[in-house]
Amino acid sequence: MLMKFVDEYRDGKSAQKYSALLARITTRPWTIMEVCGGQTHSIVKNGIIELLPKNVSLVHGPGCPVCVTPAEILDKAMEIASRPEVIFCSFGDMLRVPGSSRDLFQVRAGGGDVRIVYSPMDSLKIAAENPGKEVVFFAVGFETTAPANAMAVIEAKRQGLRNFSLLVSQVIVPPAMEAILSSPSNRVQGFLAAGHVCTVMGTMEYEPIALKYQVPIVVTGFEPVDILQGMAMCILQLENGHAIVENQYARSVRRTGNLPAQEALAKVFRVIKRKWRGIGEIPASGLGLTEEFAAYDAENKFGIVSYGAEAESECIAGLILTGVKKPPECPVFGTKCNPDHPLGAPMVSSEGACSAYYRYRLPPVAGSS
Ligand code: SF4
Repeated sequence: MLMKFVDEYRDGKSAQKYSALLARITTRPWTIMEVCGGQTHSIVKNGIIELLPKNVSLVHGPGCPVCVTPAEILDKAMEIASRPEVIFCSFGDMLRVPGSSRDLFQVRAGGGDVRIVYSPMDSLKIAAENPGKEVVFFAVGFETTAPANAMAVIEAKRQGLRNFSLLVSQVIVPPAMEAILSSPSNRVQGFLAAGHVCTVMGTMEYEPIALKYQVPIVVTGFEPVDILQGMAMCILQLENGHAIVENQYARSVRRTGNLPAQEALAKVFRVIKRKWRGIGEIPASGLGLTEEFAAYDAENKFGIVSYGAEAESECIAGLILTGVKKPPECPVFGTKCNPDHPLGAPMVSSEGACSAYYRYRLPPVAGSS
């Protein structure tokens, strides 16, 4: 079905056609994970789970940047943000995410200069306007946010701005997918990979994963018909015993990705191990600044020591983010944990699975196998 306009990817009749196709081609139970939190919200908001055959279960993956940022990094953020010489800049979602004992809103209430920005370039502007202050941007997210953060550091160097730095908590998707597939509790048989990540990175890095774990990976967009089409492609592979990378989101994704963005990433960042909130440390799953840009590393600049903070005890975010459980299976979902009193990052974030289920009020464990 060839579509040209975004409205066509929201068309109810097309969605029903894919729903009928899925019913025709599915002969066995399958469990598929959508990687990205943006896809999770689209799925829950648009009632896609109800359009799937009963024996197909969609579980929700770790692709929510706010959700996977560990309490340890948040504690570092709060220590830096509390300093009188610092203007700490962040995307708004991060301010409500609990560290080990408080959040950035509380730091702001206590007098810290914590500002919400919409781009790392806004922070750069603040640095240029406040030469007597140290401006720190909280660089969280996946391969989608990393190029803009890389460009901000390149631009800071070009302008000779030495009062700008990044607190880096960048993570990358493929090692997390491998960690999920390698886990003894894994139940994921196919992936809908995140279209926007692949717009930057291309699809090639998923090919060895599909081959090694014999798992279909379909790079998928974010509209309801995108997701249903991606599901159909994934289930067709599973039913036929195939395990390759396919690209449903061809209107945006090329196999090689965005080469200039990848060049900026390679210049500014190197691959390092990172801790994922609720999941733990995953080797080679994150980005840190290269030697050339070490002067822009806030952890170096402020001499921040390592913290051993653990995620909150009642929150089962790790099980949610690895697809082992769905949000309504958390004992405190919607009761002790709700958007006004979040106990974990998946309830805070606009891309978190728990906030999606709470907001769109799916019946408990609907669609789970
Ligand atoms: S409902 Fe709250 S406590 Fe439970 S997993 Fe989600 S964020 Fe954590």
